[in-house]
Amino acid sequence: MSYDPENIFAKILRAEIPSFKVYEDEDTYCFMDIMPRSDGHCLVIPKTPCRNILDASPAQLAACMATVNKVANACMKAFDADGITLQQYSEAAGGQEVFHLHFHILPRHEGVATRPPGKMGDMDQIKAHAEAIAAALAA
Ligand code: 5GP
Repeated sequence: MSYDPENIFAKILRAEIPSFKVYEDEDTYCFMDIMPRSDGHCLVIPKTPCRNILDASPAQLAACMATVNKVANACMKAFDADGITLQQYSEAAGGQEVFHLHFHILPRHEGVATRPPGKMGDMDQIKAHAEAIAAALAA
């Protein structure tokens, strides 16, 4: 399986389509999922091409995990969360829909189930959540 540079997240990285940015550094970009399965659901991706966990380099994984660690802690503060669910799907059979490596960060609250997939969120709320995570990162 090869990397398709026309995937949605590659377009987001090239700013060809908009996204609600949470954080970025030299190697990674974090932005909100537009179909959030919990409040604050965001995605961490490497800036370099990579399809999924199967072709990821140690450097791409290390960079993504460092960002996941930062953003997950910011989410705990921003949403007064009780925990974090980290998800990664590889290939269609593994549940992957967008073929650029990404890690889902879902802030979780005790006893609250995740919402079903595939439902578009409220854009104003998603924007506010991105700002709340960014503010917690800056604090
Ligand atoms: P996967 O199943 O590949 O791990 O998940 C892909 C995720 O990308 C889904 O959670 C879906 O809601 C999200 N997604 C799909 N299209 C877009 C988009 O255009 N922008 C953003 N920000 N997220 C998207």
